[in-house]
Amino acid sequence: MQIVAKGLTYTYNPKSPFASQALKGVDLTINEGEFFGIIGHTGSGKSTFVQHLNALLKLTGGSLKIGDYDLADKKCKFLELRSKVGMVFQYPEYQLFADTVEKDVAFGLKNFRKDIKDEKEIAAAVKEALETVGLDYTALKDRSPFELSGGQKRRVAIAGVIVTKPEILILDEPAAGLDPLGKKELMELLHSIHGKWCKTVVIVSHDMDEIAENCTRAAVFSEGKIVMEGRPCDVFARAEELLSLGLDVPVTARCAMLLKERGLEIDTDFTCDDFADKVLALYAEERVKPARGAEERSAEEAAEKEGCDAQ
Ligand code: ADP
Ligand code: MG
Repeated sequence: MQIVAKGLTYTYNPKSPFASQALKGVDLTINEGEFFGIIGHTGSGKSTFVQHLNALLKLTGGSLKIGDYDLADKKCKFLELRSKVGMVFQYPEYQLFADTVEKDVAFGLKNFRKDIKDEKEIAAAVKEALETVGLDYTALKDRSPFELSGGQKRRVAIAGVIVTKPEILILDEPAAGLDPLGKKELMELLHSIHGKWCKTVVIVSHDMDEIAENCTRAAVFSEGKIVMEGRPCDVFARAEELLSLGLDVPVTARCAMLLKERGLEIDTDFTCDDFADKVLALYAEERVKPARGAEERSAEEAAEKEGCDAQ
């Protein structure tokens, strides 16, 4: 299913002194099969936008179509849509509530897939979802989710969303608060889900390295609008603009900027692997010799000065 938003607007507490316009005309198409990134500083409207995608927030301005579902249509089958567009909130571990892991994961299925009633079928689906997120069903199913480690809780919460086998999986800041290893493992998990369980994955993230390494395309939100959109290599090629918007850039983009200032342009997609390969290729061509670069620059400067003096 393709996601097509046109002119999406949204105001919290409209017609009140506390009215705040969170979306100011968002046009965005996310194609089936993408691993899409949504970037932007706090308050730029990212969460408001993604909460529209599974109709958690009701459409009040503009249009939004997801596959054949028209979210502006009051007759849209919202429950069915929610089973196909799964949403993992920020810090999902706080939303665990049942007394066992099995009941927690089964909740989403019972809630959104009323067609599945057979207990054996439910148990099989829960087992499959838990195993997909790398958890041992037999060891964990009767445990309280509250006794688990932080990483395990987050995996149980993700299992509770993917159990309905959504076509589109949306995760709002999925790696927030995890240590570097936890972040890496979570991204690996999302890649293993992408394409097999969920055709499309959309992540909201503050972490530009995460976007550069993982996403097929990304959109940058600023003050309720999209200010940039494209492949990460196109977005991060505009590093200076991103910095001027108060946003960060991947470490590879920072290095590329510093090297450019020193006269060395690197044509990279900003993933660490590609960046290292391109630098090594230049090194092999003997183009990476800072001393020679510096010599050349001072020779150029001297020649320039001579030119000025001669005039
Ligand atoms: P982001 O996810 O990019 O941090 P949000 O979508 O949460 O941004 O917020 C966008 C704007 O809407 C911000 O100005 C925020 O203060 C406001 N906002 C978000 N949620 C609410 C709410 N429940 N009530 C009122 N204003 C809100
Ligand atoms: Mg948010």
